[in-house]
Amino acid sequence: MRFGFDIDDTLINLREHAFHIYNRKLNQNIGVEIFRELKTVEIHEAFGLDKEAGGKMWNSLLEEIYFTDCPLFEGAKELLNKLDSEGHEIFYITSRPKQYCQKTRQWVKERGFPVSEQRFFCGMQDQEKIEIIRKLNLDFYFDDKPAVLDTLSDIATKVYVKDQSYNQEINIPRVKEWAGFSY
Ligand SMILES: [Mg+2]
Repeated sequence: MRFGFDIDDTLINLREHAFHIYNRKLNQNIGVEIFRELKTVEIHEAFGLDKEAGGKMWNSLLEEIYFTDCPLFEGAKELLNKLDSEGHEIFYITSRPKQYCQKTRQWVKERGFPVSEQRFFCGMQDQEKIEIIRKLNLDFYFDDKPAVLDTLSDIATKVYVKDQSYNQEINIPRVKEWAGFSY
């Protein structure tokens, strides 16, 4: 079968990783419990930044956020390798900016995920993911972001939401933990 995965905050804990980087850069010590209660995908609110300042901060730290030691969600790598070894096809579909695609693919590979070059899609807008998911005829797709998931309600692909504080209103099958996940 054909399994598609978003990367950031679906397979890896990118926002929390960025949250720690923000704390360091801003010389603050905001507790992780504040992070866990955020109802937005963006994290700037926790630091009292407005949308504009938050966007600037995020973009200025993008390379550091993406390509340092962002933790994987427990069990994610193991599950994907298991699916791969069972003969399933694993696709990655990430809206990271185009200029980071190659480096992202390399990073994901080095972290131990099974990556095939032809099955790595990157650099699209959130709303363009649906076209790719449709074209690829995926059996399953996993994402965390409400703006993406909201566009996927009328496709044959079985869509799951990776459980996060900002997507609690989404009413589709939910993955809380990758360890032990079965479809
Ligand atoms: Mg994501």
